Amino acid sequence: MENVHKIEDDLYYVQHPTRPGWFCGITVVVGADSLGLVDTGYANTPEEYLLPFLEEIGRSPQEITTVYNTHGDGDHIEGNAAVKKLSGAQFACYTSEAEAIRNVDLSLSDGQTIALGDRTFTVIHCPGHRQGNSCLFDKESSLLIAGDTIVGTRRELIRIGTEPYVASLRRILNLSPATVVMSHPFDPAGKNVLRGAEISAMVEASITIAQSGA
Ligand SMILES: [Zn+2]
Repeated sequence: MENVHKIEDDLYYVQHPTRPGWFCGITVVVGADSLGLVDTGYANTPEEYLLPFLEEIGRSPQEITTVYNTHGDGDHIEGNAAVKKLSGAQFACYTSEAEAIRNVDLSLSDGQTIALGDRTFTVIHCPGHRQGNSCLFDKESSLLIAGDTIVGTRRELIRIGTEPYVASLRRILNLSPATVVMSHPFDPAGKNVLRGAEISAMVEASITIAQSGA
């Protein structure tokens, strides 16, 4: 499917195109007996983009057991209601973001873990885009699901301040992830799945842009 990016054997990014060159979407972790999601896109994203993908891989939305929301912006949480209707999933997020997201079953602190599919992710609190913004890091495969933590040229999305934002990006560099999945194709990367040297290039460019004051 052209709007689905297979990242690893059990990990996919389902894109919902919103305008030329831009998309939001859902990260899907496909476990042996369960499915985990990170973010749910807009209200129509689950039905229009997620369901056709699950059908394609022969899985049912009822297998979705857990949904993690990286932060409370509309393009990341408006699909929650639809996913709730389709499944018995529990919804989780970082503690201080629970109020903005609403109907959260599980509030997690920095360093706590959450299972999605057959993977275990650690919650990494990364303020900058929002105060309660967070990432999920899978140590075993060195994979970071970043949401909107790294915004590249979109300086207006650094809502909390340059200092916490840059500190969050330095923390990401210290994790040295092998793969980073962003929610949107932020420039200068121009795509949302980054590997190897692309990661430090994008994160360091984002730090420079944030500090430039331009
Ligand atoms: Zn977003």
